[in-house]
Amino acid sequence: MNTKEVRVRFAPSPTGPLHIGGVRTALYNYLFARNHGGKFILRIEDTDQNRFVPGAEDYILESFEWCGIEFDEGIHKGGPYAPYRQSERKEIYREYAEKLIETGDAYYAFDTPEELDALRKKLESEKAVNTSYSSLSRKEMKNSLILTKEEVQSKIESGDDYVIRFKMPENEEIKFQDIIRGEVIVNSSTLDDKVLFKSDGMPTYHLANIVDDHLMEITHVIRGEEWLPSLPLHVLLYKAFGWKSPQFAHMPLTLKPDGKGKLSKRDGDRLGFPVFPLEWKNPQTGEVSSGYRESGYFPEAFINILAFLGWNPGTEQEIFSMKELIEAFSLERVGKAGSRFDPEKAKWYNHQYLIRKRDKELARLYQLILKEKGIDASDDYVAKVVGLIKERANFVKDFWDQSSFFFVAPGSYDAKAVKKRWKAQSYDQMQELKQILESIAEFNSENIEKIIKDWIEKKEYSIGAVMNAFRLLIVGATIGPHLFDILAVIGKEESVQRIKNGLGILGRKMG
Ligand code: GLU
Repeated sequence: MNTKEVRVRFAPSPTGPLHIGGVRTALYNYLFARNHGGKFILRIEDTDQNRFVPGAEDYILESFEWCGIEFDEGIHKGGPYAPYRQSERKEIYREYAEKLIETGDAYYAFDTPEELDALRKKLESEKAVNTSYSSLSRKEMKNSLILTKEEVQSKIESGDDYVIRFKMPENEEIKFQDIIRGEVIVNSSTLDDKVLFKSDGMPTYHLANIVDDHLMEITHVIRGEEWLPSLPLHVLLYKAFGWKSPQFAHMPLTLKPDGKGKLSKRDGDRLGFPVFPLEWKNPQTGEVSSGYRESGYFPEAFINILAFLGWNPGTEQEIFSMKELIEAFSLERVGKAGSRFDPEKAKWYNHQYLIRKRDKELARLYQLILKEKGIDASDDYVAKVVGLIKERANFVKDFWDQSSFFFVAPGSYDAKAVKKRWKAQSYDQMQELKQILESIAEFNSENIEKIIKDWIEKKEYSIGAVMNAFRLLIVGATIGPHLFDILAVIGKEESVQRIKNGLGILGRKMG
């Protein structure tokens, strides 16, 4: 039995805000680690200094803190394999690049940008199958496979720029297993001789990633499908170093709602929903992109949405807490096909979490909005209101539209509703109704309902007509929960007052 502890990592490059696809990758890693009682590591891959964006690292940390994904080791936590930021591990990589030169798996290349450009153009014009620096074209280039030892030595000593490239084998079948995709076979001649080490003394992603996964004893690499094309190189690098490679799982892409193409960072607000966990302000342009947190999503709902973006439990259950996800998660149940992001379903998830929350907790959140509107109501009162309207809302920010009339009496009446619902007999009926309300001693929903319905029946009024006019006076429009519930919450005095006001404003309808 393999008793090796499971160790997985999330390895973002701080090139901007984390996209929901990235958070999903981290989530699956986290669930996998917890499900196996293993460790989850946060490593920052910042070797490409040209793409560094200030603030991105803090954004990443804050995003995970918000949605409840926890790491065991990482830039913010330290750990036995520290440092976890690649720029702080710079010294480590050169040694490994040189090791590959010794074993003959890598070589120095001195080609200038102009020469590389000329190569690409030439291969393109020849319509070559592989138009990159590869096992087929490297023979014509300026590298240590072609130059003499002395020439190479003197170039390095005289400070010429060079890179270290991987020597891809020619025409070899590379076979490997992916937990999600099964067996993948690639012919090495279709691949290029990737740069492993750059002239600025920094490793490229490929080298640093492999070296760190090995040194940090990563057992499973779970990442987005966009990294699948790099996998043959990674497998060969493990082989060249003589290391056991981790297991790989490449997750399906997250697609736009219409299924046409990958959901990208730029899609965000253009498609009417956030693609980032938190709001992001681009430090260069000042442009602001919306976030799930600021749009009113609960972190638990956000996690649930992401969990179902590519994974399913194989049952009907759709609402999963983090704890339940940890128990139910397996890579075997992650599909191969891309998964469409469905913004309506996302709202539905939030609604599900909202209606399950205690009224008191929702009231606390709603109070923040009420305070901003200058409304002073007790927590108990707000909790009662929330209990009546939460079924009609997806977000706490929807509450106001559903419940403003609990806090402010209507000052005007929806014109369309008046036209339809304020009838010739309404004035007299509401006058009578006011007196009945005044006489009710036990002002609770059930009792009011019973007394009013008895009166309507006795008088043989149309229940629809009476109730419509009544709602108009209490709410000001045709919206809202069960009218008798509203009355009980706003109380007798307020209910009577609203009828009086309404009668005064609307008056008797003629004809
Ligand atoms: N730094 C890579 C990224 O930004 C990591 C890919 C991987 O997980 O190997 O996604």
